[in-house]
Amino acid sequence: MSYVSDLLERVIKRNPNEGEFHQAVSEVLETLEPVVKRHPEYIESGVLERMVEPERQIIFRVPWVDDQGKVQVNRGFRVQFNSAIGPYKGGLRFHPSVNASIIKFLGFEQIFKNSLTGLPIGGGKGGSDFDPRGKSNGEVMRFCQSFMTELFRHIGPDTDVPAGDIGVGAREIGYMYGQYKRIQNAYEGVFTGKGLTWGGSLGRTEATGHGVAYFLEEMLKAQGQSVEGKTVTVSGYGNVGTYLIEKINEMGGKVVTIGDEFGYVYDPDGIRGDKLDFLMDLWCIHRKPARTLADEFGLKWVEGKRPWEVPCDIAIPTATQNEIDETSAHQLVKNGCMCVAEAANMPSTAGAIKVFQDSKILFAPAKAANAGGVAVSALEMSQNSMRYSWSFEEVDKKLKSIMTNIYRKASEAANEYGVEGNLLAGANIAGFVKVADAMLAQGVV
Ligand code: GLU
Repeated sequence: MSYVSDLLERVIKRNPNEGEFHQAVSEVLETLEPVVKRHPEYIESGVLERMVEPERQIIFRVPWVDDQGKVQVNRGFRVQFNSAIGPYKGGLRFHPSVNASIIKFLGFEQIFKNSLTGLPIGGGKGGSDFDPRGKSNGEVMRFCQSFMTELFRHIGPDTDVPAGDIGVGAREIGYMYGQYKRIQNAYEGVFTGKGLTWGGSLGRTEATGHGVAYFLEEMLKAQGQSVEGKTVTVSGYGNVGTYLIEKINEMGGKVVTIGDEFGYVYDPDGIRGDKLDFLMDLWCIHRKPARTLADEFGLKWVEGKRPWEVPCDIAIPTATQNEIDETSAHQLVKNGCMCVAEAANMPSTAGAIKVFQDSKILFAPAKAANAGGVAVSALEMSQNSMRYSWSFEEVDKKLKSIMTNIYRKASEAANEYGVEGNLLAGANIAGFVKVADAMLAQGVV
């Protein structure tokens, strides 16, 4: 048995019932096979064994009182995975599906994604099984304050800097930051994704969606192609999806679907103009289901399905993990899809990735394609440290160059290790080598 297969077996045994975490580790370890073959020092120093074990995991009780006066108890998590190249960095996810496996897979992925940005940020992730949907502002605030009353002691601007993820937007970050500041009596850059009047960076809200589009354009350019004239399907409707559509439209592409967990809207003319403005308001202000867009503009609504059955040139999953399975992947390829770009974290199952690779379509893995969000988070940290703020144009220019560099790094690493064109392997390898070398330099810690 190879070294990496043996390690994967040990990870599975040591972390039972954590399917998502096994999936994330397995995907990375498989692609590192040629690296450890060429660099036995990574094996001898136990770098891989250390990397798959979080430096620290915190699980805590989050009690709060709902509007009826009833005590509710949720579970809070923060997994501080790796601090070799910078303070732990990664979002908080509030969603009923959150458990240790989900947070660990996200934290593990974050190590490599953050490394790829070229900025000094380690990997971490956290969250809770609390569901902000359907809760009043008061309930969300009381929950966030209780969550922070425990988390504050584990984070700090030079230790661990959380941000948003699913279910955590400007409102939640505001409530958590307010409570942190009150307890610590310090105005410091402990969160990113903050509001623009209190330390947030211009361009952070747009960063993940815009970053995916920049990455995609770079990847297509290398093939002599571009987004212009392409038909694109997008799944999740939210912060990532809406700003992604904005940029794809700007690049001359046509986005024909957008959805949520209940189904999807199909618009053969493309979601643009008034429809996109309406969608932005739906997301930013009203938080209503995606179906509202179909009802307002008389568009087709497909209940209970995902948009991967719609013929497209490019498919961009923007919702959540494992939203494209093997069957959907076959359907995409059969319908002529030439490119899949992952905007959500781990949106394709292992089976789906295999289908994409076997059919040789272009595949942009999440760790590379969606790194724009955390990259601008790191730029927000820099601005906070300087007590200064850059213009939108400055941030956007930096984001574009970061995304171009990520493409270059992933594609060069793939070439160097004999897996040309395999950006999944290239991204994992490039992300890994930087962190592994920092760990080697810092001794067995
Ligand atoms: N949750 C985002 C991600 O998956 C952003 C994290 C951050 O900005 O720290 O990368």
